[in-house]
Amino acid sequence: MAAKPVMINLTADELPTRWYNILPDLPEPLPPPQDPPEGPSRLEQLPNLLIGECLKQEFAEDRWIDIPPGLQELYLKAGRPRPLFRATELEKRLETPARIYYKAEFFSPTGSHKVNTALAQAYYAREQGFERMTTETGAGQWGTALAYGCALVGLKCTVFWVRAVHDWKTDRRRFMKMYGADVHASPSPLTKVGKELYSKNKKHPGSLGIAISEGLEDAGGDPNATYSLGSVLNHVLLHQTVIGLEAQKQFEKFGDYPDVVTSCLGGGSNFGGFALPFYGDALTKGKKVQFVAAQSEVAPNLQGEYRFDFADYAEITPLLKMYTLGHRVEMAPIKGDGLRYHGSSPIISLLRHHEKLDTVAYPADEKHVFERAGEFVRAEGFIPAPESAYGIAYAIDEALRCKESGEAKCIAVNVSGHGFLDIPGFAEVLGIK
Ligand SMILES: *Cc1c(COP(=O)(O)O)cnc(C)c1O
Repeated sequence: MAAKPVMINLTADELPTRWYNILPDLPEPLPPPQDPPEGPSRLEQLPNLLIGECLKQEFAEDRWIDIPPGLQELYLKAGRPRPLFRATELEKRLETPARIYYKAEFFSPTGSHKVNTALAQAYYAREQGFERMTTETGAGQWGTALAYGCALVGLKCTVFWVRAVHDWKTDRRRFMKMYGADVHASPSPLTKVGKELYSKNKKHPGSLGIAISEGLEDAGGDPNATYSLGSVLNHVLLHQTVIGLEAQKQFEKFGDYPDVVTSCLGGGSNFGGFALPFYGDALTKGKKVQFVAAQSEVAPNLQGEYRFDFADYAEITPLLKMYTLGHRVEMAPIKGDGLRYHGSSPIISLLRHHEKLDTVAYPADEKHVFERAGEFVRAEGFIPAPESAYGIAYAIDEALRCKESGEAKCIAVNVSGHGFLDIPGFAEVLGIK
């Protein structure tokens, strides 16, 4: 007798060959980035800062964008396609009539979904003849992913890493260096923006906004270098749609379809990558789906104001229309550092503005979220990244509401990464000795 289909994976020849670009399907055109009323034009600087192909994709109007065959090969080497699991054991223990499915982005060489855009950006950067990429990182997942992407295509990589995290995540730092990356605590003495803050306080904890400014300044001063962002921008969400496109095919094979699509949201790349193809169904085929982004109370950017704001601390980027807490807001540290960003991607923000996205913000002590992650670990066996735990917490909370109401909802959650390097964080919050 055959096993029950508790996991569906796709074969190599079912790997998506195109990304889904939601821009033409949005309820209104996405407001383009703007220059601030004062100071030099940021928009004119964009071609010097971003990879040409990515800049083109940022404003592309085609619904489908081909993934170059060379990049498809890299996706295969990164272990794509990735499985979609049915959380049967978790469902049983929760005694819920809901069906819970989770997408396994934790099957990633560096630990997160961020390799999907890191490989794409490194691939295009090499095609364009660059020799080096610079970037920022907060939690460290993005820095590791770009270090990996650069290593595979043969580029150098410089990472500016928020000092507060850089100093304690020793293993992740070594991980990036094993890929050959240059890693600097930010603010660093290497850039003008960094030096100003660093000289006043050598232990300045830094922020994602400051690190972005440093990466931009570094790339701006080197014609052979290009800058790369791991979230927020349209082309990043575009690259991440491989997640949702695979999941759609997998749901079809399961013979099911989600009523609720959820995931954690910092800047919006894993949520967007997972959800946008389903949004496509909702916007163009009338599918009824509830979308929910799980956030932290320390950075509930989707509950901020919908307005133009800078993406970085030093105001080097153009203004983006997004839900924002303000680009100089201070946010308390949490273990799910990847969720600490002041703004939410313009695409996700527009969907929120049109009331097509619900949001929940979990308490800053992370107890509830990590206890839910513990239930997931014990039932399903995979240890999520602290960020991913937020999406899992929502899926479980929703499944328990279903238990009360008797509704048999189909809940889909993206598990954006694994927590192998984050066990000290879980242990601290959960009091594990
Ligand atoms: C970076 C990261 C996030 C948050 O960023 P998004 O762009 O919102 O996806 C979530 N989960 C993991 C594992 C990450 O590395």
